Amino acid sequence: MKQLLLFDIDGTLVRGGPAKNVFQDALVRIYGTAGPIDAWEFSGKTDPQIARELLREAGLPDDEIDRGLPRLWDHYLVGLEAGLREFPMELLPGVSALLRALEALQEAGEVALGLVTGNLARGAELKLGSAGIRLSLDVGGFGSDHEERDALPGIALTRARSMLGRSFKAREVVVIGDTPRDVACGRAHGTRTVAVATGSYGVDVLTATGADHVIESFSETEQVLRLFLPEGKGRAA
Ligand SMILES: [Mg+2]
Repeated sequence: MKQLLLFDIDGTLVRGGPAKNVFQDALVRIYGTAGPIDAWEFSGKTDPQIARELLREAGLPDDEIDRGLPRLWDHYLVGLEAGLREFPMELLPGVSALLRALEALQEAGEVALGLVTGNLARGAELKLGSAGIRLSLDVGGFGSDHEERDALPGIALTRARSMLGRSFKAREVVVIGDTPRDVACGRAHGTRTVAVATGSYGVDVLTATGADHVIESFSETEQVLRLFLPEGKGRAA
């Protein structure tokens, strides 16, 4: 395996779904408030980070927030599973063909695939499953692992080492996402970064983050694969 590709989920592979409403319902049920959720920026943040920000804004102290989190996640995940049956996630353009191509490369030993996402691990599984995507969760960093996104690539790399029996150098890793926070978490670990403008940020904003590559979407499979392959290999062909 020459490259480890770590994908974000929302805005990168899929969009839509019921998560925000389910999250709001769960917050209100456990804490009595969802804070300023309608005005709040979710993109690129971890689920625990969003919960803490909203509840702090509502005036709750951290110890009270922490006490409620296990029950919050229980309610959220039950609601998410039910909600996704009615409102499944929608695949973003080109994702289906891209993942088919990547699975073939994975079977050929060219790449390893994983996730770096602010979703809880179980939330990631539910969301991807609703869109018909089966990516292994074994190599991943999730919001349920750490509240700060910048910590997640390191967690994914540790899992990759134990699952795949191989250490990846930073430049053999590509963090792929749709927000400046995705790029920042990759850059914090020295990985390559690919930003895709299918979430709530456009090409200009993503380019200003210093991402190695910025693309409009995953529609052009061959072009995207060249970005993911080792430096120089695709361009020389
Ligand atoms: Mg995202």
